[in-house]
Amino acid sequence: MRQLDKLWQYQQADKAVVDYETEIRQYPLRQQLLKLRNIVADQQTVVKGMENDAGKALERLEELKAQRDRFAQLFEDIRKKLEDNVFETASQVHKAIQQMTDAENKLRSAEKELAKMNSHSQMIENRYKEVRLKATRARDEYNKLKATYDKEYEQQLAHLEELKNARTEAGKNVDEAYMEKYKTIRGQKFPVMVLLSQDRCSGCNMSLPSAVAKQIQGSDEIVTCENCDRILYMAE
Ligand SMILES: [Zn+2]
Repeated sequence: MRQLDKLWQYQQADKAVVDYETEIRQYPLRQQLLKLRNIVADQQTVVKGMENDAGKALERLEELKAQRDRFAQLFEDIRKKLEDNVFETASQVHKAIQQMTDAENKLRSAEKELAKMNSHSQMIENRYKEVRLKATRARDEYNKLKATYDKEYEQQLAHLEELKNARTEAGKNVDEAYMEKYKTIRGQKFPVMVLLSQDRCSGCNMSLPSAVAKQIQGSDEIVTCENCDRILYMAE
C-alpha cells in the first residue's frame, strides 16, 4: 500500500472526527438549550431591573411619608398657635392662616401622590410576582433539559474520543513527511486530499493538464493542485 493510500485512509478517519464534531455542535437539544439559556438570562435581567425600580420607589415612598408628616406637623403647630391666641396683629393672623393653608395643600398633594404610589406599587408587585414565576419556570425547564443533555453529551464525547483514537491509529501508518505535508495544508483547508477525476481537481473543480494524471497514477509522490494546493489522489 502506498503512503498516499494510507494518508487517504487517515483523512477518512479525520473527516469522521470533523463530521461528528459538527453533529455535536448542531445537535437540536443543544440548540434548544442555548436558546433557553438566553431566555433565562433575559428574564433575570428583567427581574433585577424590577427589583432596582422597586428599591427606588420605596425610597421615594419614605421621602413622601416624611414630607406628609412634616406638613401635618406644621399645620398642627400653626393651628395650635391660633387657638392659643399667640398672634397679636391681624396681619400676623392673616399670615399664619396663609401658612396653614399652604401646609394643608402640600399635605394633600403628598397624600395624593402616596395614594397613587400605593396603587401603582400593588400593580408592580403583581407584575413582579408574575415575572419571577416565569423566570423560575424557565430556569427549572433549563435545568431539566440540561440534565438530559449532559448525559447525552457525555455519550457524544465518548464516541468522539473513539473516533479520535481511530484517527490516531490510522496516523501511525503514515510516514512523517507525508503527515507533515498533510498537516500544513490542514491548517488552511479541509479536505486536504482530493480525487483527481477526468483531469479535474475535485477540490476546486479546476481542469488540470492530462500530464498530471500520468504523473500521479500509481506513483507515491505528493502532487498538489496548482490552483487550490490540495494533494491530488488517484486510487490504485
Ligand atoms: Zn484544486
